[in-house]
Amino acid sequence: MAKESSSSTSVPVMAEGEEEEELMLHGSDSGWVEARTHCDHLASLNSDLLHIPTPHTPCNRCQHPDENWLCLCCKDVLCSRFVNKHMLEHFRHNNHCLALSFSDLSVWCFSCDAYLDAQAILPLRPVYETAYILKFGEAPPVRTL
Ligand SMILES: [Zn+2]
Ligand SMILES: [Zn+2]
Ligand SMILES: [Zn+2]
Repeated sequence: MAKESSSSTSVPVMAEGEEEEELMLHGSDSGWVEARTHCDHLASLNSDLLHIPTPHTPCNRCQHPDENWLCLCCKDVLCSRFVNKHMLEHFRHNNHCLALSFSDLSVWCFSCDAYLDAQAILPLRPVYETAYILKFGEAPPVRTL
């Protein structure tokens, strides 16, 4: 007794360049999504990412103590969208779109609206490794691609 659902024939259409905020929430919030290996916004990276604040730096605005984000453009430490959204606000005001999460060391690009693969994208690798050493006290394991 196979029951076919033929009530809907609509196919979701992806409008290029017209991302909705809803999409952004789903993309970052629903578990693991594949990280991009390319990003067009790396020119805004800070030139000295070997000297960064420690993973226990509180949010610059509200002093939230942990799981904050590091702005990779100006090295500001700001809280996540699940706290007081200060990193998101920072992006909206300053257009600083690249941020590293001190909770899991993932790199998010607000302009790409996606996670970036910090080991595959060479300019991101040094700051990823520095943050990893600050957080865990040792260099990250070498990943075989
Ligand atoms: Zn980007
Ligand atoms: Zn905050
Ligand atoms: Zn910034």
